[in-house]
Amino acid sequence: MLNKTKDDTEKAPAPGPLFGLPLPELTALIKGLNQPAYRGKQLHEALYRQRVASLDEISTLPADLRELLKAEGYTIGLPEIVQTARSIDGTERYLIRMADGETVETVWMPDGDGGERGDGSQAAEEEEKEEQGNNSIAAEQNPAAFPYRRSTICVSSQVGCAVNCQFCLTAKLGIRRNLTAGEIAGQVAAVLNRHQVALSSSRGNPNPARINLVFMGMGEPFLNYANFIAAVRLLTQMPIPESRMTVSTSGILPGILDFAKETVRPKLAVSLNASNDQVRESIMPITRKWNIAALLEALATIPLRNREWITFEYVLLGGINDSLQHADELIALISGMRCKINLIVWNSGPNMPFHEPPQSGVSAFQKRIMAAGIPAYIRRPRGRDIYAACGQLKRTVEQPPQLVELA
Ligand code: SAH
Ligand code: SF4
Repeated sequence: MLNKTKDDTEKAPAPGPLFGLPLPELTALIKGLNQPAYRGKQLHEALYRQRVASLDEISTLPADLRELLKAEGYTIGLPEIVQTARSIDGTERYLIRMADGETVETVWMPDGDGGERGDGSQAAEEEEKEEQGNNSIAAEQNPAAFPYRRSTICVSSQVGCAVNCQFCLTAKLGIRRNLTAGEIAGQVAAVLNRHQVALSSSRGNPNPARINLVFMGMGEPFLNYANFIAAVRLLTQMPIPESRMTVSTSGILPGILDFAKETVRPKLAVSLNASNDQVRESIMPITRKWNIAALLEALATIPLRNREWITFEYVLLGGINDSLQHADELIALISGMRCKINLIVWNSGPNMPFHEPPQSGVSAFQKRIMAAGIPAYIRRPRGRDIYAACGQLKRTVEQPPQLVELA
């Protein structure tokens, strides 16, 4: 039977979920149990590389250590998928439950839907093709060897959202709470486990999957900054490189300024959604706190890496922000920046006072921006039929009953 040493346990994390703890804390815990430090590494490996669901699965740890961890009140604590809905386009939306019973939604956009590279745009698809080179030829010849080579997971950062954008269904929930780092990264682990995705090229897997992450689910990541960035660090251990992650913010200035200083950081997308403060204020009240000029100034502090752009998301709302005059205003705002525009046709929600712009208007808007030399892409909606598209996440339990429920 193993004993714990009192002195060391004082630095160790409190009993509870282990998933979410970084290596130094796992090591402190292990040392506190009077075990050699390398057991901490084994635990870390089991959590983030093997993505074990229970302590019993950690075969590298001796059985009596596993029992002691359990007796002390430690669990793996991965969030659990409790409901699944599948779209005709292959997208899956999950209701994921945390230990306290709160739920968020997470979306899986599988390979074969036309290329997702972090931000779901046509630009992303082009980048992806370029990068994959010969691999994509090999994949076309033998798709089974590259089963998830371009899948994207859309991750939530908060239960609900406080930002109150008028066109977004998540806003209707209000904010319930922040997710912890383990709960943010844990959504990814739960979804990867569901699809049995092997990420690491170790353990004899010559074709590790390349998964993209977008922090574009429920919540505002930059209002939960410390946990969001801690989750990014955990996810890089799984390993998913930060170059395959994109975070979207509605324009939280302190968050952008902190983000600019990070050495390990995803790509950035900013929900601009309007070409002047007046329109933006009417659809995104946060503009009253930080206006467009302040937002652009903060973005200018980000040291862009080689071949990196800032993406501006622009949700097209019929009759509100979609005229050619708006396009011209937008061009004037951002010309000279290393950026691209992702145009998102508004996805409808019940009782919302907006409508989709006509297709011809969307194309004209895109052409106008492209003509000014700014790359502009129309983002294809995914999983609209199951309310999994942008701005439609609001917890499956509250959705209309026509959903197809899988186990
Ligand atoms: N809170 C962050 C990330 C989540 S929202 C943010 O706002 O950036 C992800 C994207 O979906 C944002 O660009 C947002 O403007 C967009 N969006 C929200 N509601 C939408 C809707 N109903 N239709 C289309 N896009 C929407
Ligand atoms: Fe929150 Fe983003 Fe929705 Fe705005 S668009 S309410 S910031 S989730």
